[in-house]
Parts: sequence; C-alpha cells; structure tokens
Amino acid sequence: RQADYPYYNTVTCAGHASMSTGTVPAVHGMVLNQWWERDNSRLVSCTDDDDQQLITYGIPVKGVGHSAKNLMTTTLADEMRLQGPVTPRVVSISLKARSAINLGGHRPDAVIWLDEADGEWVTSTAFAATTAPYFADYIAEHPLRNEMGRVWDRALPKDRYLYDGSTKDRQKTALITRDFPHIVKGDGTEVAGAFTDAWESSPHSDAYLAGLAGAALDGLKLGRGPGVDYLGISFSALDKVGHDFGQDSHEVQDVMIHLDQELGTLLDKLDREVGKGNYVLGLTADHGVAPTPERVKAMGFDAGRINTTIIGRQIDEVLARELGPGSYRTRVIYNDIYFNDGVYVKLSRNARAMDAVIASILKTQGVWRVYRKSELSAADPFTRASALSHYDGRSGDLKMLGRSYWITSSSTSTHGT
Ligand SMILES: [Zn+2]
Repeated sequence: RQADYPYYNTVTCAGHASMSTGTVPAVHGMVLNQWWERDNSRLVSCTDDDDQQLITYGIPVKGVGHSAKNLMTTTLADEMRLQGPVTPRVVSISLKARSAINLGGHRPDAVIWLDEADGEWVTSTAFAATTAPYFADYIAEHPLRNEMGRVWDRALPKDRYLYDGSTKDRQKTALITRDFPHIVKGDGTEVAGAFTDAWESSPHSDAYLAGLAGAALDGLKLGRGPGVDYLGISFSALDKVGHDFGQDSHEVQDVMIHLDQELGTLLDKLDREVGKGNYVLGLTADHGVAPTPERVKAMGFDAGRINTTIIGRQIDEVLARELGPGSYRTRVIYNDIYFNDGVYVKLSRNARAMDAVIASILKTQGVWRVYRKSELSAADPFTRASALSHYDGRSGDLKMLGRSYWITSSSTSTHGT
C-alpha cells in the first residue's frame, strides 16, 4: 500500500535502487542508467567502478569492473546484515549489472549478471574473490551456446492475446526476427553481442535466470539456515521485449505468460524445500513501457519521438551565438541536459543567454517544459518528480519534460509510466 515512488526518470538503475533502498534517486543517487561524469568528461554507467575488475565464469572479458559505490544508502539486504541477529546469505541475479547490484546492495555473498558484449556470466572483485561454485556448475551444465537457434513461439493460441499483434510499427532490429516464431540467433556463431541481444529479448533468458536462482537455493541451502536469507532476481526479458516489440505486442504478453510459469516453478520449489509460510515474496516492477508513438499517432492522438541529438546541437548553436565560439558539446541524456564545465554558471549570470537556450529546447516538437535545476522543488506538483530524480553532480543542469506519448528513444518503445 502506498508504495509510491513518484520520481521522473523511471529507468532500470533508478528503479532497482528505489525498490531495494525504499527511497528515491535524490537520496540513493542512482539517477539514470548512465550519466555524464563532469570531473572526467565521460559517460559512466551507474555501477561502473575503475577500482574493480570483472570476474568471469567463462573466457576472459574486457569490460570495466562494477560495484555499488554510487549507491549512497543501504538496501533491504544491507539492513538485514546490519540489524539481523544472524548474518544473512544474500544472493542477487540478473542479466544486467545495474539490476543485480542494486538488488543485492553493498555486501552480497554472490551477485551475477551477463557481460553482454562477451556473452559470459560475471561478477566483480567488489563482491567476491572468485566465482561461486553453484553458479559455475550450473553454467557449465547449461552453456549459452546451447541457447543458439532456439525458437520462441506463442505459448497460447493467437486469439487468446490482446491487441492485433501487428508488426507494422516496429523499428528495425536487424537480428531479432520480426514476427513469431522468433529464432534466437546472432550474426554468426559467436555467443556474444548480437546473439545475447536477441536472447535477452526472449523468454529463454528469464528461464535461465530462474535456473541460476534454483542453483543458488540448492547450493547455499537458502532459507534453511538459522537466519533470514535474501534472494533477489531481476527477470530482465520483459524490459528488452518492451523496447523491441512495444507495449501492445503479443511478445510482451507472451513473456508474461512464460514468466508466470517460471515463477510458479520457483514457488513450488520454495514451498517444497523452504516450506510454505517460511518465506516472504516481494513481487514488483522497476518501470513500465510506453505505447509505441507511431501506433498512438495512427489512432489520431499527439505522439512522437523527441530527437535529443538535435536538441544538443541547437543548444550548442545558441551557446556559440550568446557566449562566443567554443567546443560546447552539450549532452542530452534522457531528459537531463548537461553543459560542459563552467557553462551553466555563465548562463546563470546571463539571463538573455539562458532564455535563448531554454527557448531553443522548447521549440523542439514534443517538449513540454524546461526547468533549471535550481527551480526543482518537491513541493511543486509540476517539478516534484524531477526534484526527486535530481542528485547534484550526477543529474543534468536543465530538465526537459516531454509531452504525453512523446519518447526520447529510437527503439520501438522505451520506459515511461
Ligand atoms: Zn529498458
């Protein structure tokens, strides 16, 4: 009841951190999946950590290490460790680092996710010195290579699904077949990149996560020790399928049907091995998916895509005109607008230039309002959500609010609630 997190940027990292900490991005600091790190002039992912290395369950991987160092408060699992009379075992599982790490918190016993580029399961030196044997065994027995070429067809007869299942407005996603039956394959024989992208967009990846969860339950005998243990699973397929196929697709519904079956199997296992009444289940979601703008438009409503690259370019032109020539490279990440060092301070002292920048953003189709970060207030109904999404140093200098049914993405659809 009243489990309301009314913040603006409903993306995966912010969502998982909000669920596990019980607070909003303004407090836990995970404002976006990626943000602009001004000190180093680079884009960072929310769980990136240069001081850590990945630990692979397969061949060596190239990616940067990850940790929960950017998570500025504790999670439920952390508090169980801090407050419980008996030390809990904490395990967290997902396809994504940002989901697994934020669910587990600062001190999990085991956390695992998929390194998408290399197609290997990994963890990080932030959490462990080596791989967990129960995950290693499961992965050895279920190599991802075996998932190549798997077919995904509707679980139920076609007429049992809502909406017409039209594939018309799908954006081009070359390696994902356009309609059922989908075939999970890459652009060659590599179990990496293109293949993991297609596999993540199918219910087969959720089934694999459920398998890993079962392996952890068995390996650690979770729930059967003297304390209270914690198992976090982020089933990631629905997010990816929403992006690729859209909110009213048969694919979204079918992933839910498959997920329902996976959850049923998992609950049966918990009932059998931990015992009915001996566990508490929390089932929640980190965000929704917006209707595909082209579909909304075809029905006669206002909808579309906000082109953030063009907005950045327009702002740079205004800055060059108002402040003098320079390499401004303004970045727009979701709804956050990041200026290079010193530019926002100059704009704050130059009302004409600030007005011109804001006017250039407002003239972009689909943009509703623009706020300076100093204008955000949790007491104002229009800026409340943005204020709760704002963390100084990680969020943008300006916030752009879109009109309903306008999205800032080129995939078929994206987050939005
Ligand atoms: Zn997403």
